[in-house]
Amino acid sequence: MSGKTIFKRIIDREIPAQILHEDEHCLAFRDIQPQAPTHILVIPKKEIVSIDHVEDADGPLIAHLFLVIRRLAQAEGLADGYRVVTNIGRNGGQSVPHLHFHLLGGRGLSWPPG
Ligand code: AMP
Repeated sequence: MSGKTIFKRIIDREIPAQILHEDEHCLAFRDIQPQAPTHILVIPKKEIVSIDHVEDADGPLIAHLFLVIRRLAQAEGLADGYRVVTNIGRNGGQSVPHLHFHLLGGRGLSWPPG
């Protein structure tokens, strides 16, 4: 049994995903249980557990992830707006311990979240 997270297994192509973008630093793919018409996960290839585990040297990587998110939002036609979410730890509702940003759009999103 591998100790890899499910996202690391997607990076390593051990399980399939609907990949929309890949570069040296990150991967973006559609969420398997979409919560909105557009629901994409953007993850670094570097194994970082969550934002709570980001180090100073990761700054350019995090900025890059947001630039990829913006490009994906444009490609998805989300001109009316969208939401970017990252869940952290148990109380944050994080279920996969590999940093990921949810890009959600294509419908009105309520606030505050649950
Ligand atoms: P979080 O609860 O913030 O950790 O988000 C994890 C997300 O990963 C959830 O929205 C899941 O639906 C999604 N997910 C889990 N397994 C897969 C998979 N194999 N492919 C795509 N998305 C997945």
